[in-house]
Amino acid sequence: MKLPIYLDSHATTPCDPRVIEKMLPFFSQHFGNASNVNHAFGKKAQEACEKAREQVASLIKASPREIIFTSGATESNNQALIGIARAYKDKGTHIITTQIEHKSVMNPLKFLENEGFKVTWLSVDRHGLVDVEEIRKNITTQTILISVMTANNEIGTIEPILEIGKLASAREVLFFTDAVQAVGKLSIDVDQMNIDLLSIAGHKMYGPKGIGALYIRSKGPKVRILPIIYGSNQERSLRSGTLNVPGIVGLGEACAIAQIEMREESLKGKKLRDQLERNLLSKLPNVYVNGHPKERLDHNLNVSFLGIESDQLVLEMPNLAVSTGTACKATSKEPSHVLKALGLNDEMALSSIRFGIGRFNTEEELDYASCEVERAVNLLREKSALWKQRS
Ligand SMILES: *Cc1c(COP(=O)(O)O)cnc(C)c1O
Repeated sequence: MKLPIYLDSHATTPCDPRVIEKMLPFFSQHFGNASNVNHAFGKKAQEACEKAREQVASLIKASPREIIFTSGATESNNQALIGIARAYKDKGTHIITTQIEHKSVMNPLKFLENEGFKVTWLSVDRHGLVDVEEIRKNITTQTILISVMTANNEIGTIEPILEIGKLASAREVLFFTDAVQAVGKLSIDVDQMNIDLLSIAGHKMYGPKGIGALYIRSKGPKVRILPIIYGSNQERSLRSGTLNVPGIVGLGEACAIAQIEMREESLKGKKLRDQLERNLLSKLPNVYVNGHPKERLDHNLNVSFLGIESDQLVLEMPNLAVSTGTACKATSKEPSHVLKALGLNDEMALSSIRFGIGRFNTEEELDYASCEVERAVNLLREKSALWKQRS
């Protein structure tokens, strides 16, 4: 077993070796510009991009012409939100979202608020679920878009997107979902789920960094959208700029692998996750799982350890690569906006650790991890005056 152990697959994943193998020829051998198709080099690049477009589309049951390639999910999310707002501003200026979206959704929406759009930020329950009834009640004649993530990157909670899609479609409001954490983990069917726009990131699903995709529905309804990047009109004028051919090939291959291996990988992830969760809960008192008990990504475990500061816990376990929910500002620690939205107080929110189990983790690694966490939590609690007082 090699140390340190990587357990942060919600932050990023390693590139699958099969993905790298498919990408390599496109750096120096098939290096053509996919837009210059009047010679063999360009044609080869273009064909590779079109194959990848089919692979991405197939994974979410879309059609290839509904996929555009971007530099990643941050760009896809900005493109979806700002592009829709600009295209539909004459129809209405109201957007509905939740308080637990990724920053790359929240911040473009805040930008739009400054531009005069009205955004409703719906709260979630203590498990992180948005209430579809609340969405329904907040739809007005001005509402143009509902933006709810498919699965949360911190707590893994899976939102009721089937019901949200049904509602959006019935009310003729567009439905956008940031599906970065869900694609390649859950089966997604954009038609069955009435999803109008959906974003994907390569590096969260064993593909390369710097590549992403945006699905934009082309019929029933055809989504109107304006670009946020202007230039030489690649990607049907929606995303100008020379295509990142190796990245696109890598994303395509990552999607093809996910489509075949997703089910089995989920079962394995769930087994390892459940084992870690059982160990921690049985060996340590005052440990609380954040996120939904059932409607949760199979490889996610977010836990709060009462009496512990997660920053210190991470320092105490240098052989484990895990995440804390904190965003370190210059002067203070800010608890995660997601954990706060669940109703956790600052102490509980600042005591949380996120484990993200990945494709290449083993049972042995998870056994080691649970022993390490147990050791470190006991040690820090022994040192903590606060904890002694309490117990
Ligand atoms: C990682 C992530 C993003 C942003 O992806 P980038 O690769 O940083 O652009 C957006 N949404 C969710 C849910 C994520 O987990």
